[in-house]
Amino acid sequence: MELPLSRYQNVSLDQIQCTCRFPFSFPDPELSGYCFSFSRRKWRHPFSRVKCSSAEQELRPRPKPKPSRFDVGTGTRKRNPGICSQIEKLVLHKRYPEALELFEILEYEGRFEVGSSTYDALVSACIGLRSVRAVKRVFNYMVSTGFEPESYLRNRVLLMHVKCGMMIDARKMFDEMPERDFVSWTTMIAGLVDSGDYVEALQLFLAMWEEYSDGESRLFATVIRASAGLGLVSVGRQLHSCALKMGLGEDIFVSCTLIDMYSKCGSIEDAQFVFDEMPKKTTVGWNSIIAGYALHGYSEEALCMYYQMRDAGVKMDHFTFSIILRICTRLASIAHAKEAHAGLIRHGFGLDIVASTTLVDFYSKWGRVEDARRVFDRMPEKNVISWNALIAGYGNHGCGEEAVEVFELMIREGMKPNHVTFLAVLSACSYSGLSELGWEIFQSMTREYNTKPRPMHYTCMIELLGREGSLDEAFALIRSAPFKPTVNMWAALLTACRVHQNFELGRFAAEKLYGMEPEKLSNYIVLLNIYNSSGKTKEAAEVVHTLKRKGLKMLLACTWIEINKQSHAFLSGDKSHAQTEEIYQKLETLMLEISKRGYVPEDKHMLPDVDEREAQLPFYHSEKLAIAFGLINTPEWMPLQMVQSHRICNDCHNAIKLITLATRREIVFRDASRFHHFKDGSCSCGDYW
Ligand SMILES: [Zn+2]
Ligand SMILES: [Zn+2]
Repeated sequence: MELPLSRYQNVSLDQIQCTCRFPFSFPDPELSGYCFSFSRRKWRHPFSRVKCSSAEQELRPRPKPKPSRFDVGTGTRKRNPGICSQIEKLVLHKRYPEALELFEILEYEGRFEVGSSTYDALVSACIGLRSVRAVKRVFNYMVSTGFEPESYLRNRVLLMHVKCGMMIDARKMFDEMPERDFVSWTTMIAGLVDSGDYVEALQLFLAMWEEYSDGESRLFATVIRASAGLGLVSVGRQLHSCALKMGLGEDIFVSCTLIDMYSKCGSIEDAQFVFDEMPKKTTVGWNSIIAGYALHGYSEEALCMYYQMRDAGVKMDHFTFSIILRICTRLASIAHAKEAHAGLIRHGFGLDIVASTTLVDFYSKWGRVEDARRVFDRMPEKNVISWNALIAGYGNHGCGEEAVEVFELMIREGMKPNHVTFLAVLSACSYSGLSELGWEIFQSMTREYNTKPRPMHYTCMIELLGREGSLDEAFALIRSAPFKPTVNMWAALLTACRVHQNFELGRFAAEKLYGMEPEKLSNYIVLLNIYNSSGKTKEAAEVVHTLKRKGLKMLLACTWIEINKQSHAFLSGDKSHAQTEEIYQKLETLMLEISKRGYVPEDKHMLPDVDEREAQLPFYHSEKLAIAFGLINTPEWMPLQMVQSHRICNDCHNAIKLITLATRREIVFRDASRFHHFKDGSCSCGDYW
């Protein structure tokens, strides 16, 4: 069995098993019969004979480097209760920087005796500031003055290193500890899990288990998190069984991490089982199960759980609303999203950074950039994700200049852009044809921001060139990339070739794609379309043959639209809807209206990834049916939102542009390739998709 996480792709279960010495071969999946027969052999660590360095230092106090102003010449350490108690007081009031400034006086002198309570305060200051430099200062002082902490403070010093991300030092200190207690182990294991060293964390847990055969709920929750991080449901199950045996089955921390673990490992039924067994379902428990469903694309189930949570009267927090908003973004559900937005404000999370960012993302994606901007401007604090969401929002909906403006504002406000920011702003330049600006930003990535362009940034630039029709330059860019061209890069070139009808280069790109993803249906269809359009019937027949041989079935094109919180799906030529008659009538009148405005049905189709049969009926494409249905069932001022599985065809794209003119409706569309925001007879994609 291979581990699913790419990071551990080369580690087989057996390898982990033997390094972890964990009884992975646990036979019963139902968690019963777990054998607790660990040998109580003391774990012998190679470092256990190494003495604690600070203890050794104690024997040889640091030689005094320089005569001090305070030196009275006795050579022994003095007490300075004034400074120490002042440091403690400052820390008590969370004035950490000042406390550390005061500590400088002690450092300068180097010989003052500092007691445990002052060290404890200094540890809190270092943790509060997450400052590696401060940790080093405090620790050095401790070592150089030969202070030997008792076990409580030793664990605190370990925690200080862990919390400030100094994991190598922490591990060394842990290994050299003269005696480790339960807290030391827990601190170290939690630190490893937090820094993503899951395998090491599990190994340490096993070593500890051999020593104590004991654990409390938080420790279990921590190691269960490690198994989730590794995506190893088998390990998670064994930990689950351990926890049950320890009587932690009903513990809230353990249950919540189990739900999270099972859903991350793809076993949503087990997650639901754990949730059902929880005697008291907390907010975190509900959030975990809702997030679990959402993670696996069970959006409806997730929403359903959300309403159950509401009806159960459980307090919702900003995470609940963030998850729901993310689901709404996926479902294009304005109604649910508005409700969640209202809930956020009602529950006092209107200014919460995570929830507000999700809201900005939602409004941005679905074409309500003004709403997004309003939420964004009200946020007292913004992170890079909030900025990215707004920039992408402007970009996706054809407001390239605004996107660049926000990007520049972001830089001016001192926020550091990341690769997602660049992706958003470069896409915006590409969508809006801001070619020069795009190149400038692309080049500034390495020059000014020390961010190496990744394949996705190259893909953007290929698209930018493709829009201009500079196909040769786009091809040259692919060849000059400092890495192997990716699927998306070839796909971007292919789109350019399709739009500009360059079949020669298009075929080259399509063949590349076809070779890279031999199981992906759409590649065959694209290739087929290109062969057909360029009159290469023999090659076309070959593709059809391969398709049949591989047993690949064409997908049925499907479009979803949500009306009154109810999702309706339409297939092309669909006549199964209860309102079919009305829908077809509406479509008829619509078609008549738009033909007065110059619509001519296309007879030549470059339909990308759906069944050829459907190409025969462009009139009844799923997107047209969904629009007709939407127009009938919503008030005149309401924009329509739709999602569909396939890329929109030329004919529908033309028709929808005219429909927005005829009906004065806005239509926002997420197809397989991007967002299309149709308004007043044009589309935000600039007819390039
Ligand atoms: Zn169509
Ligand atoms: Zn479009």
